Amino acid sequence: MPDASGKMQDVRSKKQEMRRKKILPLSSRLLPLASCNLRLDAYFMIEALKEAQKAVKKGEVPIGAVIVCDDKIIARGHNLKESAADPTSHAEIIAIRKASKKLGKWRLLNATIYVTLEPCLMCMGALIQARVSRLVFGSYDPKAGACGSVYDVSNDKRLNHRIAVTTGVMAGECEKILKDFFRDLRR
Ligand SMILES: [Zn+2]
Repeated sequence: MPDASGKMQDVRSKKQEMRRKKILPLSSRLLPLASCNLRLDAYFMIEALKEAQKAVKKGEVPIGAVIVCDDKIIARGHNLKESAADPTSHAEIIAIRKASKKLGKWRLLNATIYVTLEPCLMCMGALIQARVSRLVFGSYDPKAGACGSVYDVSNDKRLNHRIAVTTGVMAGECEKILKDFFRDLRR
């Protein structure tokens, strides 16, 4: 009976559709993915904050960074400007050097860098040179930030590389570690 089986199939597919709609309405289909990305970003920012903590112990301005490829940390770095007596020893530069060494190439395509503070002009230049695809930072640096504060070179059409940027991830914690450091320094 082709008619009955056709009806049966129709009912079944309607039921399936209803079930699909009930279980996966558009909002809940998008939300887990978004919240998963947020959780991942927060997770890696906590790792960058751990790097910043290492800087505190060395009396360095607490800025930390991690570089992530395929959801794995491939390099870490924290500010070492004072101990290395080197103005280029920023967390990002150290992490970029380690990542390039580890991968054996200077192109860090598909890499995401997590930094506790908005990168400076030198570090943004290095991120563009390294072709890093995404930057996630915690708090803005109104005095020296080159990703929206003083300059924005992440999306400058005159340059040959653009970087996707996510800001404000764990901004409170990233700001606090710096504030606490400078408060203790004044004591
Ligand atoms: Zn820098």
